[in-house]
Amino acid sequence: MAHPWLGKLLELQKCDLRIYTNRLKLNSLPGDLKELLGKRDALLKAVDAEANKVKKIDLEIKSGESEIKQLDDENRKLQQQSAMVKKNDEYQAMLSTIEKNKQKTSAIEETLLAKFDELEKAKREFNRVKQENAAALKMVKADFDDVVAFSETLKKELSELEKARPGKVNGIIPEVLRRYTALMKKPESGAPVCPVENGICTRCHMRVTAQTLNQLQKGEVVECDNCQGMLYDPERADI
Ligand SMILES: [Zn+2]
Repeated sequence: MAHPWLGKLLELQKCDLRIYTNRLKLNSLPGDLKELLGKRDALLKAVDAEANKVKKIDLEIKSGESEIKQLDDENRKLQQQSAMVKKNDEYQAMLSTIEKNKQKTSAIEETLLAKFDELEKAKREFNRVKQENAAALKMVKADFDDVVAFSETLKKELSELEKARPGKVNGIIPEVLRRYTALMKKPESGAPVCPVENGICTRCHMRVTAQTLNQLQKGEVVECDNCQGMLYDPERADI
């Protein structure tokens, strides 16, 4: 003969455990989303860092080129002026300045050659990182969308479970419901209603007493002496 309320209680428990796991998963999702946003920011930041390296070298080159232009302009002026200078020492001083400016220009030009190489390398690195991170960003975006979609699925399922729950409480006697509800307050300790397997409580994994086993064999639901779980023998309870 079927047990009068065990089947209903197991149905209620199935519903409650799903509500519990859905809530647990939902609570972990904001953390997952935050982690993905962190990954996205790190990828964008890495591309920015490479872009800034390119910009910095570019500015250094522009500054060098502008220095050369200034030195050239100064030399051009000095050459024009020198043609009108009468005094020899003034003329020599001008020539000396012109010569120094030419040396400065050569030194800057040499630095610029190295900078051009640096710029090419930095540009290649920027493009490599940009391409690589674009692929990674796509994956992060897809993961993010998946988490958002999963969250919607969980919410929908949760609302359906919560709607169905009151109907599942009907027909369970108050005393049983009270014991079950007390145990369900700590679902992490295991399902309140659980089968006995080979004389072991599947909730606390302890061997049950001979007396408990005897009651279970009569098809009753018996409280586990160790964890207070509501034990049943699946072969005898006829559910
Ligand atoms: Zn137990």
